[in-house]
Amino acid sequence: MECPVCHRQGIDSLLQKCPECGADLTPLGRIQKLRQRVKRNYTLMLSLIVILVIANLIGIFQYHSSTSLTKTKLLSDSVTQLIQVNQELSDSLNILKDSLQKLFVAQKEYSKTEESTTLEHIVVKGESLWKIAEKYLGDGSLYSKIARDNFLSDPSQIAEGQKIIIHKNP
Ligand SMILES: [Zn+2]
Repeated sequence: MECPVCHRQGIDSLLQKCPECGADLTPLGRIQKLRQRVKRNYTLMLSLIVILVIANLIGIFQYHSSTSLTKTKLLSDSVTQLIQVNQELSDSLNILKDSLQKLFVAQKEYSKTEESTTLEHIVVKGESLWKIAEKYLGDGSLYSKIARDNFLSDPSQIAEGQKIIIHKNP
């Protein structure tokens, strides 16, 4: 199978993580197993249909009765319904797989933006949180947001050499 995040080919479906990008592959592996099971059921059902049709044909030839024909019609109707149900199940699995892939990509992109917008600042002598907010966020009044992000109860109490984390929104 293919990794939905980095599109690396030929990944063992039993693997928990992609060896290339480290994405969690367990939900995809589970879906693949489910699909295999659906496929197996389908093959089993087809063999069953063939056997039943042959049995019914034998019945028709032996008795030439109209009741046997009605039964065959009923049977073929239920078989058609079963095939439809199986097809619908397979379609739903495809939709689920697509949504999961979209989710993977979205997660990946989200973590990227988070990495690029978190900054670190070491306080220099005479610096205030207002000045830091002005420097990094372009607005001194945003000092309270920086205070919150750093769990500072008193924004006026910052010391030289203190590390300040700044979350910059894109
Ligand atoms: Zn990957």
